[in-house]
Amino acid sequence: MTEGDGLVVVLAGPSGVGKGTVHRRVREELPEAILSVSLTTRAPRPNEQTGVDYWFVDRPTFERAIADGDLLEWTEYAGNLYGTPVGPLDEAVARGKVVILDFEQEGAFAVKEARPETLTIALLPPSMEELERRLRQRGTEDEEVVDRRLEVVRQQLPHWRRFDRVIENDDLETCVRDVLAAIEDARHDTVHG
Ligand code: 5GP
Repeated sequence: MTEGDGLVVVLAGPSGVGKGTVHRRVREELPEAILSVSLTTRAPRPNEQTGVDYWFVDRPTFERAIADGDLLEWTEYAGNLYGTPVGPLDEAVARGKVVILDFEQEGAFAVKEARPETLTIALLPPSMEELERRLRQRGTEDEEVVDRRLEVVRQQLPHWRRFDRVIENDDLETCVRDVLAAIEDARHDTVHG
């Protein structure tokens, strides 16, 4: 393995599984790992910053990005549009970065199709009950939004096995270690076929 190998990693998992905490720890351990910043029409939550968490834009701006071919993939989720700017992603990979995409299930499949060398990782909770508990505890959304997200989670359950790796997020540090190992394997494969 050469340390300079770029890689796209999709870290997907149901809303509330703890993807944010996991990729924050992964980026602490792997300095060349960066997070792709998506475009979205969703309103910022408290403490979210444009250019850091997302590029927060209005619908016409988002639609122009689609028309101009600026997005690798995009989706509508819970009434809002989300998409991946393709230019910054390809540039970062060319510079040897490990670019992490924090995504929903369908977005992961779309990226895999557009860039087959992508490593797709499904991050799953120990149980549905645990996921529901984490989602409600987060407290940033009202009941109705949480219920809608749980329904999406149930529909998606059978499809996680199509990911390159399925990793359980029970103990955080074990999970982070597994994700780092999967990334190292994939970068090795990139060189040796
Ligand atoms: P949230 O509103 O909670 O930040 O994100 C909602 C869902 O959209 C999350 O699962 C998030 O990972 C996903 N998402 C964020 N950016 C993108 C993107 O660029 N493309 C796709 N397909 N999904 C995204």
